[in-house]
Amino acid sequence: MTHQLEINVSYIKRKQQEKNKYLKKSGYAARTLIKWLESDKLDSDLNDVLVALKDNEDDLQQTLNSCRVVIKFANKAVNTNFSDEWLKAIEKVLQNVDKLPFLEKEKISLTNLYIAKFYCIKVRNNRDEEAKKCLEQAIFVSRNSEEKIEAYLNLAQYYEDVSDYSKMKNCLEECENIISQSNFALKIDDDYLAYVWILLGHYYFFQFNFRECRKILLEAEIRLESILNQSQNKIQKNSRKLSDCLHYIGRTYFEEYEMVKAAEYYIKAQTILEEYQKENNLAQEKLATAFYHLRLGQILEICQITDSAKYHYSDSIKIFTEFQGSKSGLAQVNLALANLIEYDSTVKAKENKSTLEKQEDQIKQSLNNSLKTGYYRGHLLAMLQLFWLYVRNLKIHLALPLVWKALTSDEFKKSGGILLLYRYVRKFIFGIFYRIRFLIWLKLRYKNVIYKCPCPIHKNQQ
Ligand SMILES: [Zn+2]
Repeated sequence: MTHQLEINVSYIKRKQQEKNKYLKKSGYAARTLIKWLESDKLDSDLNDVLVALKDNEDDLQQTLNSCRVVIKFANKAVNTNFSDEWLKAIEKVLQNVDKLPFLEKEKISLTNLYIAKFYCIKVRNNRDEEAKKCLEQAIFVSRNSEEKIEAYLNLAQYYEDVSDYSKMKNCLEECENIISQSNFALKIDDDYLAYVWILLGHYYFFQFNFRECRKILLEAEIRLESILNQSQNKIQKNSRKLSDCLHYIGRTYFEEYEMVKAAEYYIKAQTILEEYQKENNLAQEKLATAFYHLRLGQILEICQITDSAKYHYSDSIKIFTEFQGSKSGLAQVNLALANLIEYDSTVKAKENKSTLEKQEDQIKQSLNNSLKTGYYRGHLLAMLQLFWLYVRNLKIHLALPLVWKALTSDEFKKSGGILLLYRYVRKFIFGIFYRIRFLIWLKLRYKNVIYKCPCPIHKNQQ
């Protein structure tokens, strides 16, 4: 019986090998690769794409197509936990590119290949030097202004993630230079100037310069909306960028305690994001969704709608925990939760720990998370929050060492040093004004305050 089975298995294997050989000869393998390139949407199963890549890896003639396929699905691979497999596929393509004659090599966008490699490596660790080298390589091998800008934008984003803001700004200035020298930005669908402005908006935001941030983002919004209005395809890369732009405009309003406007922008950003997500069947925008829940939760918390706030916080935690791609996410939710403990008197009564202890725990957890994941700005923010917690509770002996630690940290210097401190103090003073204004609005039940969560889930609830 067993013997019979073995014969059957070896027979099937042999037949399969013959079939594979035949298919390769008939160009079948190459055609599957082209199939992935022709498909407009990104909803393909990556396992199938990997098989097609594997079938073609010994065929140098297919290098150009393999390269395109690898680039096309890189983002999806990273966001659906396929980054290791993808990295291997990219390495293989890079090896093959090396073997190509010069003219063939010229057809391949090595820049985009290195950017794809960067994404795969970066998902492991924000501060990965190897990842940064990929981007430097991408700039080095770029064949035209478009590719160069694409690489610089990614490098700017990298510096944003590791909180090296002066380098981030340098990259963006470099992009602006390239755009002003070459007049192509207006001719194609990609509006690089708007992309640069969005990242500049992030830069101003992290420098606590909210006015400047909003100004530049509103301009980016106008540009992106006009492209989307003219374009046949309403849901595309630009709508994803627009969503990010709107989210950050919302954040500037949040800083001024303009909660109604902030919530409006967050929800509009999320609606666009969801349409984009549906169209592309991607899990990749999950993190942005997690941030949406976190930010909306913060608004609700300040407007004292605690139940809805908790709902959105827990949604956000769920996504951040399930999906490890964000370095800053969990740290930020922990910080937000630390605040919520203060508002939540029911928790206080149930457990023995004092509110102070619980908040301290929560912030320390965030400190650890941010250190572990290389989110150094978050580390600084958490220290700051702990400092205020101690000050509010008159624990000055615990607060002062923290100030020293923060001021001497690497992160502090990189983020702008004394200038950052000055901006923070300014933000703090303005913040007091905004907060008082807000409390008066709250007292008077003024229309600038939210009394019910305006999200699609809670809007129509009783
Ligand atoms: Zn809600």
